[in-house]
Amino acid sequence: MPSGAELIRKAKEQIREVDPKQVHDLVQSGNGDAPVVVDVREQQEFEQSHLPGAVHVPRGHLESRIEGAARDRSDRVVLYCASGNRSALAAKTLQDELGYENVESMTGGITLWKDRGYDVEVPRRLTDEQRERYSRHLLVPEIGIEGQLKMLDAKVLLLGAGGLGSPTALYLAAAGVGTIGIVDDDVVDLSNLQRQILHSDARIGEPKVDSAAQAINELNPDVEVVKYQTRLDASNIMEIIEGYDVIVDGVDNFPTRYLLNDASVRLKIPVVSASILGFDGQISVFAPYQGPCYRCLYPTPPPAELAPSCGANGVLGALPGIMGVLQAIEVVKLITGSGEPLIGRLVLYEALSTSFTDLKLRRDPDCPICSRDPEEISDEEMGVFPDYEAFCAAAG
Ligand SMILES: [Zn+2]
Repeated sequence: MPSGAELIRKAKEQIREVDPKQVHDLVQSGNGDAPVVVDVREQQEFEQSHLPGAVHVPRGHLESRIEGAARDRSDRVVLYCASGNRSALAAKTLQDELGYENVESMTGGITLWKDRGYDVEVPRRLTDEQRERYSRHLLVPEIGIEGQLKMLDAKVLLLGAGGLGSPTALYLAAAGVGTIGIVDDDVVDLSNLQRQILHSDARIGEPKVDSAAQAINELNPDVEVVKYQTRLDASNIMEIIEGYDVIVDGVDNFPTRYLLNDASVRLKIPVVSASILGFDGQISVFAPYQGPCYRCLYPTPPPAELAPSCGANGVLGALPGIMGVLQAIEVVKLITGSGEPLIGRLVLYEALSTSFTDLKLRRDPDCPICSRDPEEISDEEMGVFPDYEAFCAAAG
């Protein structure tokens, strides 16, 4: 029986080897004939650093996974490991047993590559605790480690820590959205607790932003909560919303909706908007310049008597649960780029009949706001809306 060293020596005689410089030049050239560079080391080795653009197929999974990296037997494949031995054996397997015609092993492995002064990629990693916490996300291909890192980097602003904001905040916090801003000037009231599950009996009388921050950090201390104990208005909106990746609108009043629409179009921030009344809810995503904005749909506010936000209205306690969770899912889709967000669509949910209706929405080419360039939208016209007090007084 040959020794291990002999086996490796023989394998190297039967395969082709390639110098790191040649691999470097091929990859740098950026031509269509660049080889598929495959790292055959173990997971931990790959995670520490690897060649830029390398695909990871550990040697133990070579036979079962190589087709995911190089589908075609004629593809040019360069294998590497730490020093060039494991990749030589792997190259022999690909060549002799799997019929790959154009396989090479990089001499000296990543060690020689680094000695030559070539760059390596050091992937960002999750901590062991994050791996455990988000393990069910890591198992979903649409999210995975990349999606999870995007969520940890994401900044999401919630308008309102009420009925809709409660489930949205909790699920986004649980999902690992790194920064959650909350705008709410209210305090927790006993009548809120029928649906606003962020808060608790013990926190009645506390500012909602404080109560929300406590609930979020008890669930996930990874999340940074930014509190805005204020009411969104024309004087503060640009300052507050700038820098956020997504805004979640759970505020059911028209002046704020119009103001938010105009400001978010100007800053090109998508808004996940939902509203609830009685047993009915609706949700849409307003992505500036990709789909319609709020003013495309409602160029003017509805008649005052139809405005549900002027006084207290009844709502089923669990309804904001459904609609808020739908909002949280839209946020995750926007952040991770997975699926089809509700851009240009309005989904209506009727709880009493348990039915969902999906309506198409179109951009209005004459929309007063989004038919123009963002920088043309002036401060003076943002959120311009009839006097709200008068508007509600007219509703009786
Ligand atoms: Zn518009």
